[in-house]
Amino acid sequence: MNKLENIKRIRILVSGLVQGVGFRPTTYRYAHEFLLSGYVSNTPEGVTIEVQGISKNIDAFVKKLLSSPPPLAKIIDFDIEQINTEEESDFVILHSSSYGNKKAEISSDIAVCKDCLLDIEDKTNRRYLYPFTNCTNCGPRFSIIQDRPYDRNQTSMSVFKMCEDCQKEYDDPKNRRFHAQPNACPKCGPSLILLNSTGSVEGNHDDLIGRTALLIKEGKIVAIKGIGGFNIVCDPFNNNAVQRLRFNKNRPSKSFALMAKDLMTIQKYCYVSDKEQQILESKETPIVLLRKKNNLLDSISIDNNYLGFVLPYTPLHHILFRSVDVLVMTSANKSDEPIAINDEQINFLMKEKIVDNSLTHNREIINRCDDSIVQVIGDKLQVIRRSRGFVPAPFNIGATTWGNNLSMGADLKNTFSIKKGNKVYISQHIGDLNDLRNYDYQKEEIEQLSKLLDFKSDRVNIDAHPGYQNYDDDYNKVYHHHAHVLSAMAEHGLLGKNVLGVICDGTGYGTDGTIWGFEFLEVESDYRKFKRRHHLKQFLLPGGERAIDEIDRIAISISSKTERSIFIEKTRQEQIMAILDKKINCIKTSSLGRLFDGVASLCGIIQKVNYEAQAAILLQRYAEFFNGELKGAYTVLIDNEELNYEPMIKELIADINNGVTVEEIAYKFHVWVVDSITSVINKIKSEYVVFSGGCFQNVLLCNLLEKKMICFDINYFFNNEIPINDAGISLGQSLL
Ligand code: ZN
Ligand code: ZN
Ligand code: FE
Repeated sequence: MNKLENIKRIRILVSGLVQGVGFRPTTYRYAHEFLLSGYVSNTPEGVTIEVQGISKNIDAFVKKLLSSPPPLAKIIDFDIEQINTEEESDFVILHSSSYGNKKAEISSDIAVCKDCLLDIEDKTNRRYLYPFTNCTNCGPRFSIIQDRPYDRNQTSMSVFKMCEDCQKEYDDPKNRRFHAQPNACPKCGPSLILLNSTGSVEGNHDDLIGRTALLIKEGKIVAIKGIGGFNIVCDPFNNNAVQRLRFNKNRPSKSFALMAKDLMTIQKYCYVSDKEQQILESKETPIVLLRKKNNLLDSISIDNNYLGFVLPYTPLHHILFRSVDVLVMTSANKSDEPIAINDEQINFLMKEKIVDNSLTHNREIINRCDDSIVQVIGDKLQVIRRSRGFVPAPFNIGATTWGNNLSMGADLKNTFSIKKGNKVYISQHIGDLNDLRNYDYQKEEIEQLSKLLDFKSDRVNIDAHPGYQNYDDDYNKVYHHHAHVLSAMAEHGLLGKNVLGVICDGTGYGTDGTIWGFEFLEVESDYRKFKRRHHLKQFLLPGGERAIDEIDRIAISISSKTERSIFIEKTRQEQIMAILDKKINCIKTSSLGRLFDGVASLCGIIQKVNYEAQAAILLQRYAEFFNGELKGAYTVLIDNEELNYEPMIKELIADINNGVTVEEIAYKFHVWVVDSITSVINKIKSEYVVFSGGCFQNVLLCNLLEKKMICFDINYFFNNEIPINDAGISLGQSLL
């Protein structure tokens, strides 16, 4: 028998997240292990592998590659075809070719790995304390990529020519830095620059980071260049610095995020469950909202019982935290505009005296990406802001009927989405489009992400709200709450099923031209349509938009003339009554967010908010302080399709007048919302229920609801990885 008969050659096309994650060196190692010849190469579609050798070795190779791919890889397609054998004796890694479609997924930015941390802690290592250390298992990706395929010359690392030592690692398939595109060392890579008001300070990396730590300890406010943008950093225990930062950013009470040295430090201030620990330490390293243990950091988070903590995710952070424990770590901007990513923007913030100093560097940020924010409810993840670490990984949504489209999202917490076939790419956090700088940023990012994804489509989906920035008569309009329901249905594989969508939200334009927000929408197998089955009884917002900030206007609107809150002055009451009587600029709404506002005002908690959702956040905080036995519950009244809040408000005002504590009333109101939801669910009896909308960021509300839902024999879902707030709207739109 001829020995050659057992020799065969196959070609494998792999697509998915296979570039920038060490796929080629792993393939190389496995090919050598099974004595195969051939090659592996990055292509715009992903990775192409050809292997030749004994049949059973080839099978073993394929099995191993599929069962133990590199830890960061995600294989979506794996096509094998048998081809003619060739004369060769070695397995090699070929240089990337750049033809064809751009199918390979782009990796998101990944927190520094344990091996790289060992390198920077080792005095004898040439990367000792080098803040830009990375390898194929970690480091910047999306934030530095200009185009695909992912190769050094298509990233902002292209300006740094590797030194001999780095090049050797880069070329060595057995090395952890083999083809690590951002590979760098102190000799050849990016370097730090410390800026003060008069110019730059000289020094080596270690020295500059040490000086930065000293400046922070002295009470200075410092901008530090991170992965997807600059952060503003200060000492959370220096009251002067915190107050100055609040003033500079025009942020009188909204919470700041914190970065802590390690898990133990976080546990000094917050409770951390196993699930929360796992997320804090994950490769995405988002900010995790955690329940406070004590009031040690109350000046950082005034309005609620939670603190947002993130662990260090770059070598620079780790080196900085050798001499500090906890730092305020917030986006570098004046208020709501896009986070600063370059020296020009940081110089502006320094000139405006928003920040005192800046620790910057010369590795350019190509794609801006804010820190992501998540929380854990029960044992389930809830992504609040899906940005660094997550973007641009796509969602697989099964439904392909409508092909490709671009979906522009909502105006608040904006993201946009690009749908290509059955994959939807949600953009990074863009922000509030009413700030036109964010609107421009959205335009730029649409262009950039379209280029990266080789995307073109004439079909554009927008929110149906005619006042929104992207509104255009020619575009396809999607109702806000339909999009919320679809986002949850898509995430949980429910497209095509009969689903009841329960919406608890702030603002969404409805089919009748009013503002919706507490809705029960039925979506049948044709998910392009919906029926509004129930909704909160509408009330007026006197003065329109102004009632969103001046929430006492809502309190007057939802309470009757005879029963009125003691917390609003008589003359003010009369002014607002006059507006209501004459119906001057009064908008009709069924929004639950606005009902929370009105109740917070009636309880005397707050009358004028300084950021979105502040009243609801405060009401939640008070409710969470209640720990007694609840006596009775507010009346749930369902009149035909209307959920009538009036009896509840009447009883609530009676409670206030009878001296029931604010904590108890706030708690009782949360229970009323849950009772209302479950009463309607009981009436409609749908097999599947999804919950979506910004009000579900309220942990107490979700916990109370879960407790009641487990008593029903119904499959119910909340959004988890797709934001439950308006950042998830663009994905919902993309299904239509
Ligand atoms: Zn690494
Ligand atoms: Zn080097
Ligand atoms: Fe919404």
